[in-house]
Amino acid sequence: MTPESFAASQFDVVIVGGGTAGLVLANRLTDSKHSPPLRVGVIDAGHYNPSGDPAIDIPYGANTYTGDPNAFTIGNPKYDWLMKSEPQASLDGNVIWYFRGKVLGGSSALHANAWQRSAKNEYDAWGKVFGNGDGWTWEGLMPYFARSERWTAPPSGEDALLPPASVHGKNGPINISYNTHLSDLDRPLTEAMVNLGYPLNDNPDDGDINYLPRDGIPRSVNPMEGKRSYATSAYYTPEVQARKNLCVLMGAVVSRLVWDKSNGKPRAVGVEFVSGGKKYIVNVGKEVILSAGSLKSPQILELSGVGNKSLLEKLGVPVTLDLPEVGENLMDHPVNISDFKVRDGVQTLDTLTLDEDFLAKHKKLYDTKHTGAFTYTPRITGAFPLQELISSETYQNMREDLEKTLDEMTLTPLQKAQYGELKKWLDEGKLGLVTPAMVPRGGMISSMEPNSAYISIIVFQGHGFSRGSVHIKSTNPEASPTISPEFLSLKWDLDVQIHASQFVRKWVQTEPAAGLITELHTPSAEVKEKDDWAKFVKSRLVSMSHPMGTTAMASRSLGGVVDERLKVYGLDNVRVVDAGVIPMTLGTPIQPAVYAIAEKVCPNIISTTALLKVPSKASDLIAEDLVKPGKF
Ligand SMILES: Cc1cc2nc3c(=O)[nH]c(=O)nc-3n(C[C@H](O)[C@H](O)[C@H](O)COP(=O)(O)OP(=O)(O)OC[C@H]3O[C@@H](n4cnc5c(N)ncnc54)[C@H](O)[C@@H]3O)c2cc1C
Repeated sequence: MTPESFAASQFDVVIVGGGTAGLVLANRLTDSKHSPPLRVGVIDAGHYNPSGDPAIDIPYGANTYTGDPNAFTIGNPKYDWLMKSEPQASLDGNVIWYFRGKVLGGSSALHANAWQRSAKNEYDAWGKVFGNGDGWTWEGLMPYFARSERWTAPPSGEDALLPPASVHGKNGPINISYNTHLSDLDRPLTEAMVNLGYPLNDNPDDGDINYLPRDGIPRSVNPMEGKRSYATSAYYTPEVQARKNLCVLMGAVVSRLVWDKSNGKPRAVGVEFVSGGKKYIVNVGKEVILSAGSLKSPQILELSGVGNKSLLEKLGVPVTLDLPEVGENLMDHPVNISDFKVRDGVQTLDTLTLDEDFLAKHKKLYDTKHTGAFTYTPRITGAFPLQELISSETYQNMREDLEKTLDEMTLTPLQKAQYGELKKWLDEGKLGLVTPAMVPRGGMISSMEPNSAYISIIVFQGHGFSRGSVHIKSTNPEASPTISPEFLSLKWDLDVQIHASQFVRKWVQTEPAAGLITELHTPSAEVKEKDDWAKFVKSRLVSMSHPMGTTAMASRSLGGVVDERLKVYGLDNVRVVDAGVIPMTLGTPIQPAVYAIAEKVCPNIISTTALLKVPSKASDLIAEDLVKPGKF
């Protein structure tokens, strides 16, 4: 489809962003089961891979498998927006990279495939603490988690452990399966954790995420093909592509929404986009849905005059609606990574590049059985309550410090609600807040010695207290916004990271894992004192690539940007459906929640749009010269 023909089309709903959430909506809203069928247009800035792409499809090491050094997605401008934060004062001036999918399927085409639900009380808080009603609780959301899933049980045979009582969906689009390739560290690290006195979790997806799962975590990989199962392959199937009421335009950057302000609430009547250096406007019949992700949907709102009035006026953007919370409440999972060198002959994923026979064997396994090292996804990960990692005296001291810090801050109503809940969870000591995860390869934060194999252990903080923001810095829609996560800006978060890293060291130094490790590589064994740990943490901190919360779903009195139908407060017909609506950090990676959110809102979109009459066209309401394609 050309931009000209897209702009000339009449759509009921225009979806901005054909990413994780956007393609769920595109699929469900155009299903012929609904009458009358909605006409949907999707605009995405990235490119389209109709016939598969090894860089996306192969779960691990596509460049090693293909021998093509460019066969990678994360950090590759062909697939990635490659945004980065402002220098962070709390990290001694370091910047944080934000990898985000710029390809059909969005970040689901880049991510690490981990598929984990968070704990029951985390979702319950969405409904009960943030004023979104009973539909946004564990019980209200579970049918929609299940709706997206096609679950395959853990493997049988040598690796068979206790299959979890299934709480997963069996007939949805995303294939959920379990790893069948284990590195030489997978079992020893699990046993070491048991030797440290922690139980294993038989069913981490049933509302309790604590401790290492007995079977490892599930992942979004099709076990029959050994390929990533993601928004494009699962929700934009050939049957969906053939639907006459769905058009997807790629390579077009949405620059703003066009408004009719003549009647009460501003109503979006058009979407302006740029393609090939030209500007176009497509008419909107009923609704605009922003699914451009938690860093880009706020940018589009602000470019459309919806945001903090003083910021908009400073940049010369005509104000449509003063909604200062847009782009605030940026939350993420700060990650701290340690690298460990393993003994000669211990097999990790690094062995693929060290041992030709191992490489040949695993290429063959991938080609013939769709298994082996190229299908590896991280599986040894679980959440731990902080009190179980540190002494009660240390915990009490940290809590007193935290109270003092919070007393000195000016908190927003949303922060007050979030922190009240978080402190309750902390003091109950039941919810896992610190999550180590083993990745059996090195080089994640330090350079590797030749002919040596490594493992890395990442540890992410499920529920930090730091809050950041994302805002436009210019009116150029292609420019990266100003991103500032403010990681570790509260001493509490730094202390948690330090204790978590120390726990990781203790874990790998416990048998039977300890015997397989030869060197504490980064941080080195020299890092012992608290100041050294703090320096290490600050210098190596990265984002887990889970930005969320920048258009939070919460009551307006708490400072929410969208209501429980995901409609933007104060606007007539604009929703945000992406990771930005998550009102408070989740303790696990967030892709299942993004799919579930999109699944959940679809029936509401279908029922409300069915009642709407198609209003006048954008072209009747905006200046003639804007409608014509022109130079941007
Ligand atoms: C490197 C990485 C690893 C991750 N690992 C995991 C993991 O293992 N497990 C997990 O659960 N989660 C993981 N995540 C997080 C998860 O992938 C995301 O939270 C989720 O996919 C976000 O979905 P979304 O719909 O909000 O946005 P996206 O999927 O990013 O979709 C946004 C879409 O909007 C488009 N867009 C943006 N701006 C514009 C514009 N102006 N005009 C037109 N189009 C636009 C983009 O091109 C993109 O296609 C990871 C993410 C990354 C990046």
